[in-house]
Amino acid sequence: MVRVIMLSPPGAGKGTHSRWLTLQTGAAHISSGDLLREEVARGSDLGRQVATYTERGDLVPDELIFSILAPAVVSAARDTGGYVLDGFPRTMAQALRAAQFGADLALTSNAVIYLTAPEEELVSRLLDRAERDGRADDTLSVIRHRLAVFAKETAPLIDYYRGRGILMELSTDRPEADVRADLLNRLQARGLMRPGAGESTPHHAEQAGTTPGNS
Ligand code: ADP
Repeated sequence: MVRVIMLSPPGAGKGTHSRWLTLQTGAAHISSGDLLREEVARGSDLGRQVATYTERGDLVPDELIFSILAPAVVSAARDTGGYVLDGFPRTMAQALRAAQFGADLALTSNAVIYLTAPEEELVSRLLDRAERDGRADDTLSVIRHRLAVFAKETAPLIDYYRGRGILMELSTDRPEADVRADLLNRLQARGLMRPGAGESTPHHAEQAGTTPGNS
């Protein structure tokens, strides 16, 4: 079963490809951004606290993110035996803590998928999404800030996971079907997905590609 971390700048397609991978594998999709947005929508004290960070495009503090994510990862992994972690970890501190947590519970990640696209393409995709979904943090100035936060806080994780030998880098600056085929081949080559997976359920893939939400 796949236990995968999706690591990518905003707009590179981590939401879309996470949902698709989830449908292909039966692993649980755990999106930190979705969980945070749900908390904000509930209007709880925690949600109000979260919104002060997400509206500006700043990262939510590690403690807060762990209190929301850890129970979701544990129950999802128990239910399905795998996970697609979409948007977490995003700082070195989160990555180190996640590695410890994974080792303690025998839930260590077996691949990290790093999706890339040129910066102007990322911005233009997010602006398109803003028109579709109206997400509060999809304004040009907040998008630029989120990209800068990625470069400063999250980009160091690329080398960290490369050093651990589990990084798969894929460009998403090409048709989505090509990205999926590439992803599938590479997961199969690593023995993380069975051969033939992904060929018989094109309608699922379509749905995954068009679900609104984060990219
Ligand atoms: P995107 O990758 O497009 O920015 P996400 O939905 O993944 O969208 O995240 C939206 C926001 O949620 C981030 O800008 C940040 O404020 C917060 N967030 C999500 N994941 C994390 C995390 N692992 N650590 C801290 N903040 C997070």
